[in-house]
Amino acid sequence: MNLTATAGRAGRFLLDFALPPRCPACGTITAEVDLFCDGCWREVEFLGGGCATCGLPLEATGAETCGACLAEPPPLTRIRSAVAYGDTARSLVLRLKYGRKTALARTMAHYMRRPLGELTPGALLVPVPLHRRRLWGRGFNQAALVATELARTGGCQADPLLLRRTRHTPRLKGMSVSERRRAVGGAFAVRAGRAVRGRNIILVDDVYTSGSTAAACARLLKRNGAASVELLTWARVVRPTTIR
Ligand SMILES: [Zn+2]
Ligand SMILES: [Zn+2]
Repeated sequence: MNLTATAGRAGRFLLDFALPPRCPACGTITAEVDLFCDGCWREVEFLGGGCATCGLPLEATGAETCGACLAEPPPLTRIRSAVAYGDTARSLVLRLKYGRKTALARTMAHYMRRPLGELTPGALLVPVPLHRRRLWGRGFNQAALVATELARTGGCQADPLLLRRTRHTPRLKGMSVSERRRAVGGAFAVRAGRAVRGRNIILVDDVYTSGSTAAACARLLKRNGAASVELLTWARVVRPTTIR
């Protein structure tokens, strides 16, 4: 047995508790656990206002709903996100998903509480599910971690198992709207024994890109009698050029 390595790990473990909190984005020592330092806070683009339905920034016309939502109301009653998808927002998502920094779910949930306040009070939080193959590979569903954290700190309820992904879906990047819709159509199901009828549901996900996945979940929930389906995400692609 390598005693030095073991002692090193134990020391590291103790240090994690003894050290002051660090900014989840840049690692600078901060006053409060899980929150951005002042510099990163200024750099992150927090989202607010915008179209009453989809939340995207509005043209200065005085209208409350954007032209796209008026022309074709989306299956999601309302869409809200904490931040625009930029370098810092993306880094948190990647480190949570692939770097297994599960504590970052707390940071995301913290900043998602404000947009959550713009959605239906008392609605049930339901994370967008992963296919079990991906769940086995990663060991956790990042959206479920965030939803559970929001429920724990926000006094609302979450049901991480209400939806399940019945088949693996390809990456949607580069697909047209109709291709995306076909790719995710029928990929979700309501778990047996779960009651959806008459309920207000808030889908929770890490990033809102094209919305095809959330729309597929929303259509399914509506077919099962949900009263309303809204979407809450950590980050949102506001300008398509920020997708990488
Ligand atoms: Zn920072
Ligand atoms: Zn809109």
